Amino acid sequence: MDQLFIIVAGVSLVGLTVLWILRPLLGGAEVDRERSPEANAVADLAAQHEVALKSLRDLDNDYTAGKLDDADYQAQRALLLSEGVAILQRLDELKAGWAASDPTLDTEIETAVAARRVVTPSDTIPPPTCPTCGAQVRVAARFCDQCGATLVVPTASPPVAPLPKSG
Ligand SMILES: [Zn+2]
Repeated sequence: MDQLFIIVAGVSLVGLTVLWILRPLLGGAEVDRERSPEANAVADLAAQHEVALKSLRDLDNDYTAGKLDDADYQAQRALLLSEGVAILQRLDELKAGWAASDPTLDTEIETAVAARRVVTPSDTIPPPTCPTCGAQVRVAARFCDQCGATLVVPTASPPVAPLPKSG
């Protein structure tokens, strides 16, 4: 229980610090410029942090509603909290690295964070996989590199016709 308290206290502290840092940014002016990778990384982490916080709230609600027993609740909560702490630590590291030296990046972060608020489904098409062994295969590959299984049935070859019964 002591460990949990330390984690909770840590999350609160770091979270408040980050909020305090981001506070002036959240109401800042919009800039129309390309985002730096740093700003994107920070926005990404901020989005992850929001997700973690939401999961935490959902977990609390489930626990309050009696859907979880104590052990489950504590375990999942500890997991989510450590995740949140890790995200915030990475945020801090990122920000500490360059925010002070380049204040204009702060505005980029704000824009990037705002953009990432809208959660969009991934639009990347997963690479094709071999139905036999599950390995990733090239898009137009006819045979699996891993197991050699046929991936595309060639339409040119005629189907094997059943032999006519003799007799
Ligand atoms: Zn295969």
